[in-house]
Amino acid sequence: MYQNEAIISKLIVTQDGEKDFQIRFIRDENVGIICTPTDKSYFLLDSADYWYDLIQEKYPPIMKCSCKNDRFNLTFEYTPREGTEDFREINITCSCTVCQKVKRLPTIEIDYSPSSQLLDHPITFCKQPKIKYKTYSLMGYWSDDELLGIANYFINKNLFVYCWYWDSQNAQRCFKELSATELHSFLSGNEERYLAIYFSEEPFNNISMQTTPDGKGILIQQDIWRKNNVFMLRGPFMVVSRGLFYQMDFCSEYLDKDGNIVPKAASFCALTKDFQKFSKKLLKN
Ligand SMILES: [Zn+2]
Repeated sequence: MYQNEAIISKLIVTQDGEKDFQIRFIRDENVGIICTPTDKSYFLLDSADYWYDLIQEKYPPIMKCSCKNDRFNLTFEYTPREGTEDFREINITCSCTVCQKVKRLPTIEIDYSPSSQLLDHPITFCKQPKIKYKTYSLMGYWSDDELLGIANYFINKNLFVYCWYWDSQNAQRCFKELSATELHSFLSGNEERYLAIYFSEEPFNNISMQTTPDGKGILIQQDIWRKNNVFMLRGPFMVVSRGLFYQMDFCSEYLDKDGNIVPKAASFCALTKDFQKFSKKLLKN
């Protein structure tokens, strides 16, 4: 147990003794990967859990020093959470191997436990950092009839329907299962504003939901549709002079922790194909 918050510093060296790294870092997500001169890649901290999903749209560039060099020595600074075995935050400093100038990555706040593994294993070997898998986004300025057509398609397939929405009266994000009538009511704007609607092959029992400490209710992971047998309709946004812009995301395969592309359940794969055919016809105008 840590008696105080004295910082623990650790210079990052791989099993092979390499310590000069190229860095690709996704700032808003605090997720990154580093690569040695012999082309071995490692995830930073717990980045393996998020990396592949985050790089599907955009691959982060290699970080450069102002002297143009792109190799750095890394030091992780762990701030313990007093009276626990955990860490409160981790800071990563990158020191240029040519000019020694020091850069700091954004502070990584640790809000989970246990977290001692982040000190024991600050980096994790990654066989293949760049893997793409096929995802689909259906989007556009749909008419009310088109939106209803899509909703009814999923109702007719007997999928579970869930809604994540903003309850304005209680100023909270809420989540509930919807009947067909309730779904129509949400889509027609008679209900509260929805943040997302999920059409799912199985009940949402195992899907992680967090209640945020800010008292603003439930948070649901943005990328829930990537790993689960789920179609996700995002809450639309208004584009002036065009109307409401809709987007639905889904995919028939996902990446496991080792970076293998795995097909989703056969029934869901068939459904994604069928839905693509259906939506092509429906939205052909
Ligand atoms: Zn430099």
